[in-house]
Amino acid sequence: MEVVGARSSNASGAKYECLLFDMDDTLYPLSAGLNLACRKNIEEFMLHHLGIEGTEVPKMCLDLYKECGTTMAGLKDLGYEFDNDEFHAYVHGRLPYDALKPDPILRNLLLSMPQRKIIFTNADKAHAAQVLSRLGLEDCFEGVICFETLNPPPPEAPSADHANGTPDDDNDSAGESSETTISGDAINDETKSKTIFNTAKQQILCKPSLTSMLAAIRIANVDPNKTIFFDDSARNIASAKLAGLHTVIVGSSNLVPGADHALSSIHNIKEALPQIWEAEEEHLDQIIQSRVETVVLA
Ligand SMILES: [Mg+2]
Repeated sequence: MEVVGARSSNASGAKYECLLFDMDDTLYPLSAGLNLACRKNIEEFMLHHLGIEGTEVPKMCLDLYKECGTTMAGLKDLGYEFDNDEFHAYVHGRLPYDALKPDPILRNLLLSMPQRKIIFTNADKAHAAQVLSRLGLEDCFEGVICFETLNPPPPEAPSADHANGTPDDDNDSAGESSETTISGDAINDETKSKTIFNTAKQQILCKPSLTSMLAAIRIANVDPNKTIFFDDSARNIASAKLAGLHTVIVGSSNLVPGADHALSSIHNIKEALPQIWEAEEEHLDQIIQSRVETVVLA
């Protein structure tokens, strides 16, 4: 896991070393309409694929979301059996991705941040790749912690081909889609090598559970005291605070319980959190100061 481990020392002594970003409705606004379309697709899946009574679907969808983190996790909890990839393809495959446009302002902000930057989303890998690509941000993050990261498929029976594989092989990564621009495979592979989250039951691990937060912290190999977590969900913020992270609620100008900062838009990040850039500036100041002293002494 050289990617995560090796970079964690880039700012030793710095106040913040890593920024963990939720993706949907955090890196782009709720008004883009994907959230609403996603909800509609989930309801259609419940109706057409699981045979749930139409009059029950909307309330059940919302209740499960509230109780279990995602409606999908709730459906699994209730014992509904369906293929995770099929669910994600159905729910995300028809989303109005055209509503997402390249965001050069956010891109420049992200690229100017000296910290490690990692996505932490409940969505699946293919959706994350699609969104980041549409926003023009696919190369702004070190990795993506997503559904497949926290819920890796059960390990297959070892075969001769796999016997000689190494943890760094990408060939067995979840899905053959070509979103290699997201450099999260190292994180995913690392997760696969651990079995702590891979339970025999089909129990979905996702935000806002504290377990998912602690898992993300462990997988990303970050110090929560030196990590800022950004999310548009108040319950995710509350959980992240319990996990020891610094927190920023996005999409609201009002603080929620557990939030250290509130950002109406991710675009306001520099005004609201100038300390993200302070490590760099302080470092430069130290260099300049050092040079001045050298000159004086000389
Ligand atoms: Mg979100």
